[in-house]
Amino acid sequence: MKFCSECAHPVSLSIPDGDNRLRHVCPNCDTIHYQNPKMVVGSIPVWERDGQLQVLLCKRAIEPRYGYWTLPAGFMENDETTSDAAERETVEEAGAHIELGKLFSLLNVQRVHQVHLFYLARLRDLDFAPGIESLEVRLFTESEIPWDEIAFPTVRTTLELFFADRVKMREGGSYGFHTGDINRPMAMPADGVHQP
Ligand SMILES: [Zn+2]
Repeated sequence: MKFCSECAHPVSLSIPDGDNRLRHVCPNCDTIHYQNPKMVVGSIPVWERDGQLQVLLCKRAIEPRYGYWTLPAGFMENDETTSDAAERETVEEAGAHIELGKLFSLLNVQRVHQVHLFYLARLRDLDFAPGIESLEVRLFTESEIPWDEIAFPTVRTTLELFFADRVKMREGGSYGFHTGDINRPMAMPADGVHQP
């Protein structure tokens, strides 16, 4: 940041007393502007019929990763819970009505200061349609998933974990809860901002 959000004075970088990290500090009003990771929350909406399972993906209508496919997900808002955020993003991006299940994956993306969470979800009906951030929304069987056109590493990892758990379920297992750190380099937009 360049300017104080409290008084508009230019900020400087310094380590406040009792701290051990560089912070943006305002020399005019003494506000310390802490910056912490953001939560990105989404769902894995599935439709299952006659033993055939399909996953709902959205084709992005916005940068970064315009035209690539993603699970519905986005930044959590103040005053909502993580499950509220997962449901809201699924409605906003896919127009889909879901019954939210368990938390499935929690992936740290330290490089861009984000934590991504994905919940299991069941589609209540097939009445879905792209929101303004999506070009297209459709169901994919596992063999149809466009692995080379997935927008973000956390989405790809979550889908890989999801289908791996499905294999275990055929042998009597169940969905797990998966955590990990995603530090794979990926194509970055010019401004270096990676948003879901
Ligand atoms: Zn200030």
